[in-house]
Amino acid sequence: MLTFEEARRKVIEQVEKKKGPRGTVRVSVWDALGWVLAQEVKTDREYPPFDRATRDGYAVRVKEAAPGAKLKCAGEIKAGDEVRESLAPGTCVQIMTGAAVPAGAEAVVMVEHTQRDEDVVRFERAAHAGQNIVPRGSEAAGGQTILTTGTRLGYAEQALAAQVGAVQLQCAKRPRVAILSTGDEVVLADKTPGPFQIRNSNSVSLSAQVRIAGGEPVVLGNAADRVEDLGEKMERGVQEDALVLSGGVSMGKYDLVEKVLKAMGAEFFFDAVAIRPGKPAVFGICRGTPVFGLPGNPVSTMVTFELFVAPAIDLLSGAEARALPLVEARLGEALHEKPGLAHFLPARVEWRGLNAEVKALPWQGSGDIAALAKANCFLVVAAGREKIAAGESVPVLLRKDVI
Ligand code: AMP
Ligand code: MG
Repeated sequence: MLTFEEARRKVIEQVEKKKGPRGTVRVSVWDALGWVLAQEVKTDREYPPFDRATRDGYAVRVKEAAPGAKLKCAGEIKAGDEVRESLAPGTCVQIMTGAAVPAGAEAVVMVEHTQRDEDVVRFERAAHAGQNIVPRGSEAAGGQTILTTGTRLGYAEQALAAQVGAVQLQCAKRPRVAILSTGDEVVLADKTPGPFQIRNSNSVSLSAQVRIAGGEPVVLGNAADRVEDLGEKMERGVQEDALVLSGGVSMGKYDLVEKVLKAMGAEFFFDAVAIRPGKPAVFGICRGTPVFGLPGNPVSTMVTFELFVAPAIDLLSGAEARALPLVEARLGEALHEKPGLAHFLPARVEWRGLNAEVKALPWQGSGDIAALAKANCFLVVAAGREKIAAGESVPVLLRKDVI
């Protein structure tokens, strides 16, 4: 049986072969959060476009502004002012943050380090060349590539595109991810379930996880545990960029997902992973489409999506597969788990300053969505570990939707 790291690598290895956008769309820079660039973005001019003052103060020649020296203030420059004249010898100019430094000036002395009497400024500290000035072109040259194809756009990247005037961006189409839940007992979440039926919560969590990963969910509803119904809906699913199923991959008599996939000609890369929850997770390629059979217990579905499906969506968008958001935390309460499988326990990590402390939450196993709704991470217990003492360092997989 593969470890989760090995299984993840299998997914990345296979989907890497299909890396790249499935077409592109123009997206306004305002709406580009989470989209992946399908073009380069270049600067339209140098940045900064002029020598920029980074403090409110006085533009000076360094030698003339020695401690105790006095200079006549010859005028002022506000942010946005056009600056034509150079600094006359023996004078200083009052200058504001974001304004262009005049030719001849070598430093901007912070207003806090000066005293002013009428139009005479007295300097209190030694200035040095370049102080509080960002030279023209030092952030980027004109025509320089500042965002590359495959970059995922966050708020800083959006701001950078806006800065250079790239208000329309060619982005990778979001991969369409078909979501199919399975099970005779499953009814739509907006229907009243019979006494032994359950509402379909997995299609809701999977849709959210697909969105966060950068995909477009295509919800195909629920298939009964029958070969014909499964086959029909899976045929539809493999026409999308990826297909994610929940349920029907365990050892039960009516767990038919693998059987149907096999009949459809799928090639499998794993059908079990050494994790709890999530052990029966399946990954294959069927008619060229990556297919994930995730176990139906809601927490299993959530964990296995994060581990195996999310990196595939990155790659199908033309981006690199993002690393798992694993961090280290100090265990707050001792743990005793069965060894053999790596465990992903719903847990809460809290920060006291820089020190992260994590505690597993009480739960009833992988059907317990309420426990996960209280959690902000999964505490990862390595496969070989049985007892972990309080105070030991443990890995924690962050829930990136709530942290
Ligand atoms: P399975 O993986 O099909 O054996 O299902 C495992 C457990 O998850 C069962 O208790 C199912 O009722 C439950 N389950 C399956 N599909 C869903 C779903 N879409 N939403 C919520 N629970 C589900
Ligand atoms: Mg089932």
